[in-house]
Amino acid sequence: MRQSELFTKTQKAFPKDEVSANARLLIRAGYIEKLMAGVFSMLPLGFRVRENIMRIIREEMNATGACEIIMPALHPKSVWETTGRWDEMKSVMYQFGEGERAYGLGPTHEEVIAPIVQKHVNSYLDLPIALYQIQVKFRNEERPKSGLLRGREFTMKDLYSFHTNEESLNVFYDRVKEAYRGIFKRVGLGDTTYLTLASGGSFSQYSHEFQTVSDVGEDTIYLCKACSVAVNHEIITEQKVCPECNSNDLVKKNAIEVGNIFKLGTRFSEPVGLMYRDTDGTQKPVIMASYGIGVERLMGAIVETYHDDAGLIWPQAVAPFIAHLLIIGEQTGTLKKFADTAYQSMIDADIEVLYDDRTDVSAGEKFADADLLGLPWRLVVSNSTLAEDKIEVKKRTEKEKKLIALKELPKYITK
Ligand SMILES: [Zn+2]
Repeated sequence: MRQSELFTKTQKAFPKDEVSANARLLIRAGYIEKLMAGVFSMLPLGFRVRENIMRIIREEMNATGACEIIMPALHPKSVWETTGRWDEMKSVMYQFGEGERAYGLGPTHEEVIAPIVQKHVNSYLDLPIALYQIQVKFRNEERPKSGLLRGREFTMKDLYSFHTNEESLNVFYDRVKEAYRGIFKRVGLGDTTYLTLASGGSFSQYSHEFQTVSDVGEDTIYLCKACSVAVNHEIITEQKVCPECNSNDLVKKNAIEVGNIFKLGTRFSEPVGLMYRDTDGTQKPVIMASYGIGVERLMGAIVETYHDDAGLIWPQAVAPFIAHLLIIGEQTGTLKKFADTAYQSMIDADIEVLYDDRTDVSAGEKFADADLLGLPWRLVVSNSTLAEDKIEVKKRTEKEKKLIALKELPKYITK
């Protein structure tokens, strides 16, 4: 894409009213725009990052055998009354209207999905089933101030699985755990994200969270140095030992909850009559689990993990473009031709490239914007590189620059 066609502009200064690094950088770099606290628009660059994250999530979810669906955000009050959660969720759910016209905006979808599955499941032969969606959710957060980390409206991948027994649930549950590890690794958070034990509710001793260690995280976890499992501070016992290995070598850290997985048991299947006929002919309630990942929150966690004073630093798998090609100098004659050829050769090699062909900004501004936008590779074409018939290549994460011949460039970047 040509940067001259990108309508967004970077801002000279950070937005005054933002405190979190993710909001400050993403707004300043023109990736997102705030409509109000906790509600953001995704502009072209932010949209591309979000799409990359969703593609990775989708690939890992499909690999578990789950099928993708999409459910509505607008729910009638009646489905939430069936499970008794209309009143229970009052503080976090947007609810409006009266009588037959009372509605809520969904913060989660157990109440919607259980009746869908109920219509399609008769016998034990129909189970297990796993369904997921990547869909908009709403949560009435009082005063969200952490940028993308806490949204009132946000995109969530929510997966639900349905089983005849706990053994079947455990098999799938472990498969999703591994899929989650795969997702966090691919987006660049593999080394800082920990499986975390949290209080489990009625059905199981623990639920699991995935927590990314970060100074700005709103959660507190205790990280076990011996087994690399973490424990949420809400469940840590007086004696402070790891429930997995009994080690007392625990380190307290701030963390961002980037995923959670939860055994629900029959909490939602029983109220809606989601039953199956077992091998002996008796009717039994289906056992459920749910598994969530917040898409924008994950994007925020990536930014909190990867940035410096000059701007964003995207891991290659989620970057809006892989390379940022800058033409420095007057855009005429052989210089322009050389830069255009470099641009086309990247396109031909399927390398996503943003081409800074703007004519109305200085070289200094182009370099500053390249650092701020944070694409993995910076490619510079100028009269001095043209003299050597080469392109100056620099990684966003490194200081070192190299001159590379045009025909070597695609291979150099994708190696
Ligand atoms: Zn341990």
